[in-house]
Amino acid sequence: MDFSLSPETEELRLKVRDFIANEVMPLETDPDSFNEYHNIKLSLLGEMRAKARAAGLWAPQMPKERGGLGLTVTGWAAFYEEASRSIFGAVILNCQAPDDGNMSVLNKVLASDTLKDKWLQPIIDGDVRSAFVMTEPSPGSGSDPGGMMLTKAERKNDRYVISGRKWFISGAQVASHFILCARTSDDPRRGLTAFMFHKDDPGWRVVRRIPTMGPDEHGGTCELEFDGLEIPIEHRLLEEGDGLRLTQIRLGPARLTHCMRWLGLAKRCMEIASEYVEAREAFGSKLAERESVRMMLGDVAKDIHVGRLLTMHAAWKFDQGDKAQKEVSIAKIQVADVLHKAADVGVQLCGAKGYSTDTLLEWIYRYARCARLVDGASEVHKMVLARYYAKLGNDFWSWG
Ligand SMILES: Cc1cc2nc3c(=O)[nH]c(=O)nc-3n(C[C@H](O)[C@H](O)[C@H](O)COP(=O)(O)OP(=O)(O)OC[C@H]3O[C@@H](n4cnc5c(N)ncnc54)[C@H](O)[C@@H]3O)c2cc1C
Repeated sequence: MDFSLSPETEELRLKVRDFIANEVMPLETDPDSFNEYHNIKLSLLGEMRAKARAAGLWAPQMPKERGGLGLTVTGWAAFYEEASRSIFGAVILNCQAPDDGNMSVLNKVLASDTLKDKWLQPIIDGDVRSAFVMTEPSPGSGSDPGGMMLTKAERKNDRYVISGRKWFISGAQVASHFILCARTSDDPRRGLTAFMFHKDDPGWRVVRRIPTMGPDEHGGTCELEFDGLEIPIEHRLLEEGDGLRLTQIRLGPARLTHCMRWLGLAKRCMEIASEYVEAREAFGSKLAERESVRMMLGDVAKDIHVGRLLTMHAAWKFDQGDKAQKEVSIAKIQVADVLHKAADVGVQLCGAKGYSTDTLLEWIYRYARCARLVDGASEVHKMVLARYYAKLGNDFWSWG
């Protein structure tokens, strides 16, 4: 078993590290870099994205012929983790949710180069942003989209007419390209279908931007209403009834790239806390010399390492052509917890300063709370793992 990165991936990782340290991290200390939702201002983002592209650090998940870096999934893991040492890194390098997962799934499922030129290429080029539209207010689709989805797509000749309501749709206020999941039949396994639509298509609207603990992705998390949006059949993704399949194709890698980014943020929490305890004195010694303080840092370091191994293992399985479903679920549960713990320990060790906005810890702490909810709550992933265990028994842990 070889756990080392290829020389090319390592070289790229170091390039990302330098870019983030020299070009991106200085922006985090300037209040003028932030918009009102505590994310990087769009005007500054445009400027920084141009720099990232010029540095050859752009769209690591996309094929080279479409302007990306064509990395393997294990290569993504090294790249995304370095990018996410900064809270602005992933979006600047075009590997942030939801565009990241949307690009990956569109690259896999769009049936022709013409469709890819229309729906995918502008996202890769950074000319438009995108959104993934699945979750609905209760009693609609949440943890159980297959069983609960209420938004309807009714076939009328060569078009589908959409009616219903969605919510918590990341980026909807800035997105132009939307992937929508809606019900086309009551079939329990093949009842959903996925489509593309453009923001300028009539028959839908953003009802509101839902206020959250934040910090928010650009375009917020929004509630949407569909009242007669018409989608031509050629903008359907895969076949009618393949909506859940599309969701699985998207969410597997998208959950894992969350883990890659969250590990970068968790490591950053360690950095900030270490710097503080190395300098701060209390009761006649540096905080860093206290056994209890070292135990806290050692414990988080251990958990981050576990998360990295799980993430890399799932990435390696993807690279072997496996769907890695249970490996992704395990990594997602673990790394969501690690991010939360790293932020919490960071705040604790930095004392009152950790609670303030003088460090990034409170930003990361607030952001971390959604990690255990988005793209499948931890409890749902545990349910999935229990199903695998019931089916596989001791083979649950097989290396094959
Ligand atoms: C910041 C943010 C961004 C988001 N972005 C998007 C987006 O871009 N597009 C999109 O479609 N959705 C998005 N979502 C929605 C997200 O995917 C859902 O919140 C998630 O799937 C859970 O659905 P729900 O909120 O309806 O929770 P519910 O289904 O109502 O579940 C509530 C809680 O019940 C528990 N639970 C559920 N099922 C089980 C079970 N089987 N066993 C035990 N416990 C269980 C879990 O603790 C869960 O958190 C976003 C959410 C947030 C917070």
